[in-house]
Amino acid sequence: MTATASRVLVLNSGSSSVKYQLLDMHNTESKSGSAAGRLAVGLVERIGEETSRLAHTPLGTGGAKRETEGPIADHTAALKAVAAELAADGLGLDSPELAAIGHRVVHGGLKFSAPTVIDDEVLAEIERLVPVAPLHNPANITGIRTARALRPDLPQVAVFDTAFHTTMPEYAARYAIDVETADAHRIRRYGFHGTSHAYVSRKTAELLGKAPEDVNVIVLHLGNGASASAVAGGRCVDTSMGLTPLEGLVMGTRSGDIDPAVTFHLKRVAGMDEDEVDVLLNKKSGLIGLCGDNDMREIGRRIDEGDAQAKLAFDIYIHRLKKYIGAYSAVLGRVDAVAFTAGVGENAAPVRAAAIAGLEEMGMAVDASLNAVRGDEPRLISPEYARVAVAVVPTDEELEIAQQTYALVSA
Ligand code: AMP
Repeated sequence: MTATASRVLVLNSGSSSVKYQLLDMHNTESKSGSAAGRLAVGLVERIGEETSRLAHTPLGTGGAKRETEGPIADHTAALKAVAAELAADGLGLDSPELAAIGHRVVHGGLKFSAPTVIDDEVLAEIERLVPVAPLHNPANITGIRTARALRPDLPQVAVFDTAFHTTMPEYAARYAIDVETADAHRIRRYGFHGTSHAYVSRKTAELLGKAPEDVNVIVLHLGNGASASAVAGGRCVDTSMGLTPLEGLVMGTRSGDIDPAVTFHLKRVAGMDEDEVDVLLNKKSGLIGLCGDNDMREIGRRIDEGDAQAKLAFDIYIHRLKKYIGAYSAVLGRVDAVAFTAGVGENAAPVRAAAIAGLEEMGMAVDASLNAVRGDEPRLISPEYARVAVAVVPTDEELEIAQQTYALVSA
C-alpha cells in the first residue's frame, strides 16, 4: 500500500448478488453525513441469469446512476463489470490509491474475533465454516477468490458478522444440549449483524457524549432480518441470533424463536422433509407468514385500513421485541440506552412507539413528536425525564467494514 492510498472497496457478495461501495477513508471522519467519503456505490443482481442487472452510482463525481441489463454469468464476470464501471469514473481497481478490499463474511466461527487479512489459511478456515453457514459463506468465498484473482497484490480483509459477538460469555453462547454433540458439530450461538451492532452501540455512546466503555446499550437491528443485542461497556454480552440467523426476533420472513419440537412435528405429522421445514421457517414465516406482507410500510397501511391479520402480525412482532428488551435489561442490570436501527428501526415510528409503550417503570419512554421526526442522523426520541435514552441510530455496515479494513491495513 502506498502512503497516499486511502480508498477501500467494500464487497458484500451474496449467492446471486454483489453489493459494493468505494470509500475514501480520508474523508469519512470529517463529515457526519452518511454520504461522507463515498465515491461510488452499486449492486449487481441476478448473477447467473439472463436478466442480470448492474446499477452503479458515481457519488464522488455527483454523476447519475447508470443501469445495465444483460447476462452476467458468474461472480468473476460481475466483479469485472464492477471494475469496468469504476474505471469509467477514473476509480479503477488498478489505482495506486486503492488501499484494500474489505469483504463482508457472514460466519467467522469462534476463530475470528477481529477483522483479518486474508491469506490461504484464512480462506481455508472460512471454507471449514461452510457447514454452519451453508447459505452465506460459499458466496463470500467466491467474492474473495474473485477479488484476489483480480488484484493478487492488494490486501484483502475479511470482516465477520459474528466477530462482535465472540465476547459473549460461555453461559450466553451455549445451548443447553449435550456438550459432546454440541462441540462435535460446533453447535452454539454465534450471533450475526455484528458490524451493525458494533457500529450502532458505539454511535449511541457518542450520541450520549460518553465513552463506549461507560455505556450499556440494547441495540435493536430491525431490518428484513432482525436481531437484538445487549452491549455492556462496548462488549456484546448476549444477542438474539444463534447458530444461524433464524433464532430470536420475528423477522420479515423468518420465524425467530420457536419450540424446536415444531420441526419434528412438521416432519412426523405434516410429512415435510428438512428442506421444506427450512424453507418454511426461513422464507415463509415471520411477518410474511403471519399476514402475507413483510414490508412494514404495507403492514402499516393495512392496519390503518382496519386489517385484523396485519394487526395481529404487528402485535406478535412487538410482543417478541418487548420480551427481548425485558430480557436484555435483566442481563445488563443497568440500561443507559435502547437504540433502534436498520430499515424498520430507522423508519417505522409506530414500531418504536409500540415496542417501548408501557415500559415507563423500566425508565423507558418515547416522546411522540421526537419519534415523528425523520432524518439520517443519530437522534434521541425519549423525553428528558426518562432514565433510559431511547435513540434512532442509522446503521452503516459498509462504513464500519471500510473503517475496520483500513485500520488493519494502515496500522
Ligand atoms: P433492511 O433489511 O434494513 O434494508 O430493512 C428492510 C425493511 O425495512 C423493509 O422490508 C421494510 O419492512 C422496512 N422499511 C423500509 N423503509 C421503511 C419505512 N419508510 N417505513 C417502515 N418500514 C420501512
